[in-house]
Amino acid sequence: MSIPIPAEDPRHVPNRAVVDTSAITHNTRVIADSLREHTALMAVVKADGYGHGMLSAARAAVAGGATWLGVAHPASALALSRAGIEVPIFSWLYEPRTAAEILPAVVAEGVEISVGSLAMLKMVADAARQADRRARVHVKIDTGMGRNGALPAKLAAIGSAAREDEFIRLSGAWTHLSAADDPEDPMTDQQVEIFDSACEALEEEAGPIPLQHLANTAATLTRRDLHRDIVRPGIGLYGYPPVATDLDLRPALTLTSRLALVKDVPAGQTVGYGHRFTTPAPTRLGLVPIGYADGLPRAASGGVSVLVRSDDGDHRAQQVGRISMDQIVVDLGSESRARAGDEVVLFGAAQALAPLGDDASEVAVTPQFVASAQTEEEPAQETGSDPAAGTGGPTDSRDGAEPETTASTESTEETQPAEAGDEAPSAPALADLDAADPTLPENHPGVPTADDWATAAGTIPYEILTSVSNRVPREQR
Ligand SMILES: *Cc1c(COP(=O)(O)O)cnc(C)c1O
Repeated sequence: MSIPIPAEDPRHVPNRAVVDTSAITHNTRVIADSLREHTALMAVVKADGYGHGMLSAARAAVAGGATWLGVAHPASALALSRAGIEVPIFSWLYEPRTAAEILPAVVAEGVEISVGSLAMLKMVADAARQADRRARVHVKIDTGMGRNGALPAKLAAIGSAAREDEFIRLSGAWTHLSAADDPEDPMTDQQVEIFDSACEALEEEAGPIPLQHLANTAATLTRRDLHRDIVRPGIGLYGYPPVATDLDLRPALTLTSRLALVKDVPAGQTVGYGHRFTTPAPTRLGLVPIGYADGLPRAASGGVSVLVRSDDGDHRAQQVGRISMDQIVVDLGSESRARAGDEVVLFGAAQALAPLGDDASEVAVTPQFVASAQTEEEPAQETGSDPAAGTGGPTDSRDGAEPETTASTESTEETQPAEAGDEAPSAPALADLDAADPTLPENHPGVPTADDWATAAGTIPYEILTSVSNRVPREQR
């Protein structure tokens, strides 16, 4: 039995994850326009649309030219299909119990399904028999990711079983690249070579493969030769390309809160658990009612700044001390005119900011979940050590796209990268933040991004975006 989540009235929660769906539409269009002529764009909206809300992300992407949608879980595919979204949907991650429960309905809806083993093929065929409808399958080839998918040696058996089963139609063959975010890494070419010869072998057993696809955002942006029949970008649609690109991609998610308290403190004031920060001079501190339970990575403690929007304009303020469960403290500076109630932007996009003075609470709010993100690189903290750790995970879903990452970030407090230099909260250089954004006045301090948070936390923006808690009400602008 599932446990109901107590519903907080979002009108009385100070935090917001604001989703700019027009940015998703824009990003999709920009990427779609860059594709080879006959390549279709499958918008990846797994993990609740990378934390932006799956349905609104899917609709926005379709409006921008996506002609496929991709999700990890069949239950997500079913929800998309039942919501009336009419493009083909592709789903790739399930286990036997889920398959038995849901695949008949998923096949009945016409969702296309990944198959990476004989056992999975049988699950799909059984479901198709129950649904009395042929299932369209895409054979997943493990070319080096080592997660989902069949090793090339197994393809002949899968191919002949697929050909012989009247309830199976071979719709595609696909793989997933493990290092496309590093264009120098020879792994990508190795994977492509394995993929191409595996496809040939599969065709010999199963007949022509109508659709081939392998490119995530990074490969879509850097390797036109890998566009094939479909590309599968995810993170780029949300505005965080994992590789350098000339395309104008804009962050779609903005995480905001409001100052709960502003107070003057003398030099020597300690802040937060472990008193890891001490004010070097008298200053004004701001308390923001958002913390790691809302999705801010604790590992970023002391390594980021936020945008505070007060009467005298927008100012960046360094976050100081440890990030707590539901609050953070920022150093506003002794001259600050910020007051309790002022809006604080944790990260996001300048375009999504309401003009100062607007009442943002007028916007319709859905009591839903949203993720957050960060952006530009903050220079390393003076004491900052090695933000090497990353995340990564073995499933094909949430982490499907993550660039190679290393060790766990669950280091002890003492070793967390951002903590060490707390004493001297030198603000990161802000000069070029949002420099390219023509909507901002020249002297605007810019909006921190999911990349900034990821850099400070030693992780990737994917994790920042998908970690915004479902305690944070999501709203669309
Ligand atoms: C997540 C994922 C993608 C999208 O990757 P991005 O790096 O977000 O573009 C594509 N394909 C699969 C199988 C995935 O899991």
